Amino acid sequence: MVETYDADVVVVGAGLAGLACARALADAGREVVVLEARDRVGGRVWNGTLSDGRTVVELGGQWIGPTQRRVNALVAELGLETFPTFGEGEHLIELGDRRARYRGARPPLPPWVLADLGRAQLRFDRLARQVPLEAPWAADRAEAWDSVTFETWIRRNVATSGARELMRIYAEAVLAVEPRDCSLLHALFYTASGGGIDALTATRRGAQQDRFVGGSELLARRLAERLGDRVRTGVVVRRIGQRERPGGDGEVRVEADGFVARGRDVVVAVPPTLAGRLEYDPPLPPRRDQLTQRIPAGSVIKCHVAYDEPFWRDDGLTGQAVTDRGPVKITFDNSPPSGRPGVLLAFLEGDHARELGAWPAPDRQAVVVEALARLFGRRAARPEEVVELDWSAERFTRGCYGAHLAPGVWTRYGPALRAPVGRIHWAGAETAAVHSGYMDGAITSGERAAAEILAAR
Ligand SMILES: Cc1cc2nc3c(=O)[nH]c(=O)nc-3n(C[C@H](O)[C@H](O)[C@H](O)COP(=O)(O)OP(=O)(O)OC[C@H]3O[C@@H](n4cnc5c(N)ncnc54)[C@H](O)[C@@H]3O)c2cc1C
Repeated sequence: MVETYDADVVVVGAGLAGLACARALADAGREVVVLEARDRVGGRVWNGTLSDGRTVVELGGQWIGPTQRRVNALVAELGLETFPTFGEGEHLIELGDRRARYRGARPPLPPWVLADLGRAQLRFDRLARQVPLEAPWAADRAEAWDSVTFETWIRRNVATSGARELMRIYAEAVLAVEPRDCSLLHALFYTASGGGIDALTATRRGAQQDRFVGGSELLARRLAERLGDRVRTGVVVRRIGQRERPGGDGEVRVEADGFVARGRDVVVAVPPTLAGRLEYDPPLPPRRDQLTQRIPAGSVIKCHVAYDEPFWRDDGLTGQAVTDRGPVKITFDNSPPSGRPGVLLAFLEGDHARELGAWPAPDRQAVVVEALARLFGRRAARPEEVVELDWSAERFTRGCYGAHLAPGVWTRYGPALRAPVGRIHWAGAETAAVHSGYMDGAITSGERAAAEILAAR
């Protein structure tokens, strides 16, 4: 038996992009149905819990920053609460054979490294501001910037090994890639889209400033609640067909196992790589298809390591550490608002995620705990539990935080990222011009796709 659903618009994917899109369409009086493969909404935002069943640990996206206006507005509108990321005390930095505690934004590095880093950041931010966010391929120097990797730029422009390592950690922490994986143009676009290196890396006044009370998945759940039974979970879309009829009329047909949804338009709000794995009838134009052959996701394993209490706070530490030793290079205090239990968040990114993703979980977790013990002392060696997620292994995501573009892709295929193909429209964090790759970008991308459809019919 095949169930059939008729709507004006069919949305594929109930992540923040798909949900925001559906809500905007429903508010405009359109019949909409959202088809979601997983048995939950939210996609890359997902509340896990510790074994107490109560303490939420966000397995995917979690922070929002003050310049991310759309997500902040939605938080207020949906009546959600946020709280500041814990930041009282001193941060840790390990670079080469140096290790130090410090307050504020400037780590106590040798003056020549700090000067080198400052110059590199200034230069990089200045280049980033020259990238038109709606059309990175149209930057005056797009051709040159899209012919080299971010790593090449680092080697040519950053003199000291300490500053080079910190720029590489920037790529890992923000893009979840090695700087050799993406083009300079992509790194510049992403940086500009997020408001610059400081805005992307800072906790106070930056992209890591605030967390959700109850976890970021609440944002998706609240949006879905408003859509009610128009959101269908457990529906894995496999094929999208579109037909035009004389007189400008036409239809899309979205097929899943045992389910068909028909409408006038479809919005594909799944990560670009997965959009490329759907079957299209008629086949997509070459440029669009070749784009999705070239738009891989990054690699992240997000590890929550839980303790009975946040003991590092008593040692005067924020829980935030940056280290070039790996495999863990970035940590945060991710304890709940009450501060009990204590949770340290450790990221495995880029090459380290690729390598450790293939290890048995106990071995991988042992390495993570060992890294935390080196940074935060012996008590960190005895966690209550570890909760982790390798996003590359997630069938309906296949990598994170988002997609990255290698040399040649923005300039040759960029225009196909958002351009509708007939009645097929594209949404998702990767298609956003502002805060691309972030929850904020996902929401605006969905609303942009909805506006596209409302303007067309
Ligand atoms: C570890 C991690 C940390 C992050 N940290 C942050 C952060 O702190 N702050 C921030 O702003 N952002 C962060 N992000 C990024 C943010 O979570 C994403 O940009 C955003 O959630 C993407 O939303 P989306 O709707 O575009 O895509 P998704 O959330 O990926 O939604 C796509 C949906 O489509 C579904 N789907 C896939 N294939 C099919 C199919 N065939 N049929 C039907 N449905 C399908 C998926 O199940 C999914 O629900 C992080 C992401 C990760 C993974």
